[in-house]
Amino acid sequence: MRKIKRLVDKQILWKIGCGKVAFWYDNWSELGPLYNFLPEGYKPKNITLSIMMLNNHINWRGLDLLLSQHVVVKVNTFEISLRSTIPDSPVWTEDNSGSFSVASACQLFRKNRHKSWINMMNWQKCVPFKMNFIVWRALRDKIPTEAKVDKMDIPTSSSCCCCRFPSLETIDHLFFSGLFAQELWRILCGPIGHCIFKHLFQATYDQLVGM
Ligand SMILES: [Zn+2]
Repeated sequence: MRKIKRLVDKQILWKIGCGKVAFWYDNWSELGPLYNFLPEGYKPKNITLSIMMLNNHINWRGLDLLLSQHVVVKVNTFEISLRSTIPDSPVWTEDNSGSFSVASACQLFRKNRHKSWINMMNWQKCVPFKMNFIVWRALRDKIPTEAKVDKMDIPTSSSCCCCRFPSLETIDHLFFSGLFAQELWRILCGPIGHCIFKHLFQATYDQLVGM
């Protein structure tokens, strides 16, 4: 969600009127929100642009020392003339009209979506949606296994129903290490011998869950 907010924030450019925009958090200078240029972890006060202005110039009060010189120079060269009777107005830069539209937002997300090979492999038109969806959920550990339900303090039997000697039901057990899963992989990958699909699937799962 934060990623999406950051992406959308970047595309909203504020046309300055009375200067009530947030000096650090709104994109009014075409550089994006200025807090992005501050040292990691530094959270500036939410102060308006108009308060930061003195005689038509930004009164940095020493805060410019926290930014790179080139950022300060760019911001200082930005022409700012406050008009107290005109409200600041947002312009959605992804659409020529300047107005927000869901279609342009979707296009923006699509352009910036991380195209990992697993996403490309996961969603296949020839596979029923529910199968694509369960793989997507399994890779992100989003299946309500007994182990997961246990974590929510909901009493369960905590053991699987796929093995002769039941074990704790986890994604790893259901899809990789359980007897039933191992037998399935053996049948599916038997002719190839070494099951590259299983290892790719497991490596991706480990990577996503570890993120
Ligand atoms: Zn089992």
